[in-house]
Amino acid sequence: MQKTTNICCPQCSEPTKLIIENSVKLYQYPLYCTKCQKSFLIDLCDCKITAISHSK
Ligand SMILES: [Zn+2]
Repeated sequence: MQKTTNICCPQCSEPTKLIIENSVKLYQYPLYCTKCQKSFLIDLCDCKITAISHSK
């Protein structure tokens, strides 16, 4: 079974509802944080966010 990671918000570090398998890579994924009530476009590799851009 694949290990999974709960991705945390890049701003407040609260866990988001996004849970990914550790092999997953994301590009320009819309990550929404319920605490900040903001969405971020993230790039992700090896369970680490490599780039963040705030969506409009
Ligand atoms: Zn947040």
